[in-house]
Amino acid sequence: MKEEELETMRKSFDTVKNRSSKLESPKIDRLEKRVKKIAENSINNMDSLREIAIDSFKRNGIDVFCANDAEECQNIIYDLVKYSNSKAIAKAKSNTLGEINLKPFLADKGFDVVETDLGDRILQLKKTDNKPVHPTGPASHLNVGEITDIVNESMDVDVDPIPREIMEVVRKDVLDRIENCTVGISGANVIAAEEGAVLLVHNEGNISLVSLKDLHIIVAGIDKIVPSLEDAISIAKLETVYATGNYLTSYVNIISGPSKTADIEKKLLKNMYGAERVVVILLDNGRSEAESECLWCIGCGNCIVHCPVYNAVGNEFGYNNYLGGRGVAMSKFITDDETCYDSGLFMCTLCGLCTLNCPVSIPTNEIIENLRKLSNSQGFYPKVHGKIRKNISNHDSPY
Ligand code: SF4
Repeated sequence: MKEEELETMRKSFDTVKNRSSKLESPKIDRLEKRVKKIAENSINNMDSLREIAIDSFKRNGIDVFCANDAEECQNIIYDLVKYSNSKAIAKAKSNTLGEINLKPFLADKGFDVVETDLGDRILQLKKTDNKPVHPTGPASHLNVGEITDIVNESMDVDVDPIPREIMEVVRKDVLDRIENCTVGISGANVIAAEEGAVLLVHNEGNISLVSLKDLHIIVAGIDKIVPSLEDAISIAKLETVYATGNYLTSYVNIISGPSKTADIEKKLLKNMYGAERVVVILLDNGRSEAESECLWCIGCGNCIVHCPVYNAVGNEFGYNNYLGGRGVAMSKFITDDETCYDSGLFMCTLCGLCTLNCPVSIPTNEIIENLRKLSNSQGFYPKVHGKIRKNISNHDSPY
């Protein structure tokens, strides 16, 4: 990332840091403890929760698929969308969709996947160097002048560098593009297994748009499943307060089946306003083999706000949409040792600030240390370390 972008990102992060008084309240302390227990218990029982969720989804009229890896997930999605009437697909923000590289995959098949979140849409219009920098503020490294240039150049408009004007021109364009599309794709913040429900939080209202298309496809990692709706709501509340300083987002969607009505002679009809068909794809992609603490993450992004490495180098530290040290750790399970090394395995200072600032205390520094040992044994370590090791064995000195 460029120095100016890092500077803008750090300034944006400062506004996030200013919510500390709320985070220190006894109420949030109790919520943290509760969520940590939910996360630990859910990850320890991932397989059984997946089975419960599958049964509950089916009972609610939701179609469920299980994907072992990204390729399988892409192919399931393609089979679902290939005969849709429109080539445009409305998409909501999701790390999991980034993980399976959905946009380039569908673009290759001739689809126009339209980001509906404003920050993500700005990055999509940017075309190059458009990796997000924060889970809830993907474009927070770009200042208003840069965003204006991106919008004007890519959309061939002449908007002034005024946030409201930019928002309005992007909103109109997105709404026009997705007006006639029949497919919406989103991730899931949390899944409630017993109820067979998907919980999604958002401020913009865009996820509601996505879920109102005829077919709503939801892709979620199997680590997102918790026992009950109460558990799911606790996670959403903690994530929101850590990410934004507010107790709730403007919208919380709970989707537990297709849109339906029985208002005429009690005859059940689907597709009143929302989706006629809801499909959930549960993605493993290395999660079954992952270090369990890594999967406790609720996606608030607080670790990267406080990470000295991330503040210095930005989103070069992390993998794909999974940012910072925890993202590096995830890359080992999602991909391989080499990608994990390239994601910044040896950039981490092991300072532990991420753990201190994580609402569920993920011991990222310990995970990174373990992964470094594994990486060393696979031959992926900084060259200079190899030289030092050789010097010590040959001369009893690192120099
Ligand atoms: S690792 Fe912790 S602080 Fe970082 S995004 Fe996940 S829950 Fe938030």
